Amino acid sequence: MSKLKDIKDAVLQLIFPHVCVGCGSDILSQENILCMRCIASLPETNYELHAANPVEKIFWGRLPLANATAQYYFTKESLVQHLMHQFKYKENRELGLQLGIMMGEQLKQSKRFDDVTALVPLPLFPMKEKKRGYNQATVLCQGIASVLKLPVLDKAVTRPQHTETQTKKGRIERWKNVEGKFLVKNREHLLGHHVLLIDDVITTGATLESCGNELLQIENLKLSVATLCVASH
Ligand SMILES: [Zn+2]
Repeated sequence: MSKLKDIKDAVLQLIFPHVCVGCGSDILSQENILCMRCIASLPETNYELHAANPVEKIFWGRLPLANATAQYYFTKESLVQHLMHQFKYKENRELGLQLGIMMGEQLKQSKRFDDVTALVPLPLFPMKEKKRGYNQATVLCQGIASVLKLPVLDKAVTRPQHTETQTKKGRIERWKNVEGKFLVKNREHLLGHHVLLIDDVITTGATLESCGNELLQIENLKLSVATLCVASH
């Protein structure tokens, strides 16, 4: 059975060359996007296992969170940076799904995120999402959801953006007030949830804090945060 699969993989490799997104190696099965060597070399933080980890500390005194984590260290010229670039700017959505699945597996193992009931991606500005074709945080959520079997509430929060048309309509003042802020829609869908807010990278935490504060206005909502990587300071 496995021999047959090997032959099938070899034939497919000849017809449709399939290489690792990380290093270009062709030693990987058709269904994988990263080779085992690249996966093993990703710099895991293991923050998901520990309370009071550096990502949780970013939010201390700013946002009351149940738990927070980031999966990998982000450094310049690294494999993580290369993968982030492929995922965000080269339309490699499949890679994002794979990274999301790996996040889901780590979160599952940690047990600290067991009582999460819904995933919410940090929204992008609508124009940016349109240009990119997708919100990278939503793609990560889809990968995580496939492991944790949780709903992805990707319409729960929006990020209004000032546009020419709206200015012409004389709504300048109104848009000045909401531009860049997060608006929670469908509040009733979020009541009583333990929301895991997802983004690709955390640096100062300001954007996640701003979105998280809006979510915490909802009654009985518990909030946690998970990002794919954390930029070293
Ligand atoms: Zn590789």
